Amino acid sequence: MAFYKEKYSELKKTCDTKNVTLVAVSKIRTEADIMQAYETGQRDFGENYVQELIAKAEHLPKDIRWHFIGHLQSNKVKYIAPFIHLVHGIDNEKLLAELQKQALKLNKKINCLLQVHIAMEETKFGFSKEEIENIHIRNYSSLNICGLMGMASFSDDTQQVENEFASLAALYLHLQKNNPSFSILSMGMSGDYELAIKNGSNLIRVGSMIFGERK
Ligand SMILES: *Cc1c(COP(=O)(O)O)cnc(C)c1O
Repeated sequence: MAFYKEKYSELKKTCDTKNVTLVAVSKIRTEADIMQAYETGQRDFGENYVQELIAKAEHLPKDIRWHFIGHLQSNKVKYIAPFIHLVHGIDNEKLLAELQKQALKLNKKINCLLQVHIAMEETKFGFSKEEIENIHIRNYSSLNICGLMGMASFSDDTQQVENEFASLAALYLHLQKNNPSFSILSMGMSGDYELAIKNGSNLIRVGSMIFGERK
């Protein structure tokens, strides 16, 4: 396991100059790795698994902003609702309803992003663009639905990847007209964050570039 401080610092500088939020994706990484990034100043971390996230959140500094970027099951929402900073991967209405319920219980607002399926692969989660248009965002009064998240195809075809990012950015700007609370477009990972930023992303989720390849 590792923390590539120079690569991190360079990436962080790029993000800061472009007003892009950098979420360091720390799934499967040790708490020691996370602390190295923390001590360099990083505060936004992304996790994919509820159990792992809960353990880390319990042990690590309380000023870390935890992002849930994995596929979230409705029955697990209650475990992360009290402390999660932003839930990225919301891809069905049942999950929205459960988040709303837990937010009401806690008497707080939960920040969330709607995930849109933009890739060619069928295995990636997300609402279709048509489904997104039909969600009544105002019904979820205890949620702060503040934008969209998407993952491009895993492909060397940069034109394809760029088209997917551009289509998500267009949808984001379209929805923003009726939803002034929209302020986050989460797209881009280690392999494609440059294309994502070029096409309008303002939050990237980067893991392996900062912490090394996952085994
Ligand atoms: C793992 C993961 C990332 C980070 O991927 P890297 O290629 O390691 O940068 C970003 N987003 C999501 C949703 C992920 O699951």
